[in-house]
Amino acid sequence: MTNQGESFKKVISHAKEYGFVFQSSEIYDGLSAIYDYAQNGVELKKNIREYWWKAMVQMNENIVGLDAAIFMHPTTWKASGHVDAFNDPLIDNKDSKKRYRADVLVEDYCAKIEGKIEKEVKKAEKRFGDSFDKSEFISTNGRVVGYQTKINSILSRLAKSLENEDLADVKALIEELEIADPLTGSKNWTDVKQFNLMFGTKLGASAESAMDLYLRPETAQGIFVNFLNVQKSGRMKIPFGIAQTGKAFRNEIVARQFIFRMREFEQMEMQYFIKPGTQKQWYEHWKEARMKWHLSLGMGADNYRFHDHEKLAHYADAASDIEFKFPFGFKELEGIHSRTDFDLSQHEKHSGKKLQYFDHEENKNYTPYVLETSIGLDRMFLAVFSNALTEETLENNTTRTVLKLPAVLAPIKAAILPLVKKDGLPEVAKTILSDLKWDFNVVYDEKDAVGRRYRRQDALGTPFCITVDHDTLEDHCVTIRHRDSMQQQRVKIEDLKTIIENEVAMKHWLKKIN
Ligand code: ATP
Repeated sequence: MTNQGESFKKVISHAKEYGFVFQSSEIYDGLSAIYDYAQNGVELKKNIREYWWKAMVQMNENIVGLDAAIFMHPTTWKASGHVDAFNDPLIDNKDSKKRYRADVLVEDYCAKIEGKIEKEVKKAEKRFGDSFDKSEFISTNGRVVGYQTKINSILSRLAKSLENEDLADVKALIEELEIADPLTGSKNWTDVKQFNLMFGTKLGASAESAMDLYLRPETAQGIFVNFLNVQKSGRMKIPFGIAQTGKAFRNEIVARQFIFRMREFEQMEMQYFIKPGTQKQWYEHWKEARMKWHLSLGMGADNYRFHDHEKLAHYADAASDIEFKFPFGFKELEGIHSRTDFDLSQHEKHSGKKLQYFDHEENKNYTPYVLETSIGLDRMFLAVFSNALTEETLENNTTRTVLKLPAVLAPIKAAILPLVKKDGLPEVAKTILSDLKWDFNVVYDEKDAVGRRYRRQDALGTPFCITVDHDTLEDHCVTIRHRDSMQQQRVKIEDLKTIIENEVAMKHWLKKIN
């Protein structure tokens, strides 16, 4: 098992052990790529959602929210292109009988070459020390340039074959690169086939009148079909945005990466309606704005990068992913897509209803263009959670597991701990708890020695532990312990609210973006 594999395994087991994520219907041996969020996970997920919602809707006067239904009229998916084109190329290994996404096999192959580049960079960094210029090294070092050229040529061939639906060439590429089944090493592959990812179901009681429906594979279409309703009822002027969070469903071919790729997941999407011709400017604007949102959480600028798409989806004229360094390497976390007027025009065509905007300044009607930002809530959860999980060796050579979550997202903001279970200390601790609970999610814990209770809260990512001791009865002060530094301070009970608020209040974090 590689280091990467080991650290990812730890993430998964920590998520289970500390009540963040469970396999769905585990008592029946689970359901593949479906997960439940447990008592702490649901809080973390809710906080991420709220942080996104506030940054989008509350902070932008011209962005409003929406909560459209999961079921939509089936023609929606004909119009959007999902019935005909929402496919992934799949390939089976004849020996192992395992199924893979053909494009992912090729991309993983390229990621390995990229790993070699990273190694060269690290070596050179060591050799040259402070005088090392990374970008110059990458553009001039013979070996690195060779690796990069190889990656570029593989990816552009893959993009071209997928665009031309030339699946035979995708297979030929896999064979030429001698890509083997990652689980067994076998190179005995079937042909590449297209596979539609939508889940179908039926609406209605009687078999004859039942209507074929799909579970939505993205939340975006709920926004497009409501474009005119929101624009008119909200008297919205272009440019304006509609934001939505909600479940989406995809029958993913390969789903082996915990909550990275699920069959039921949640998206946070925002569609920004703009004047045709301004899409380049808004594309750049939203790329920057979304990156700022990520960076505001302080999870390390080096862990993010943009990946501009070579292969564009049928609806896009430009697209970029924000990739994050997950335990298994850099992968897509969020997509920023310039969708042109594709969706609104398609819905206009299929519904026969005009979906246009009258621009008073220009005194004319037009179909707005759309800029989309689309992030997976579960993927963001995994990014935050895996980045936070840290093992530290302390001065006395013991190790401490601490979940260094951004305080604004932590499920529990403070734990109130009486030093002992007697002498009136629990009563004081409970009074503090009932004061603080109006403002923060706080817990009370009196079980085990206080050191063990600290460790338990560290593992849950709780930014503060507040200990009530015998002196508290006299001086009305408590000891507040900070999760990351483990420093302890003696403070007045009445100051607790301000101290906690200064570190966890969403507004302080949102101010870093605006
Ligand atoms: P991928 O290439 O990883 O399959 P995608 O390009 O199909 O993703 P989009 O359709 O652009 O993804 O969806 C937007 C966002 O929704 C993604 O950036 C990702 O964060 C999230 N997402 C997509 N599919 C899944 C999934 N199966 N499980 C969890 N999150 C997902």
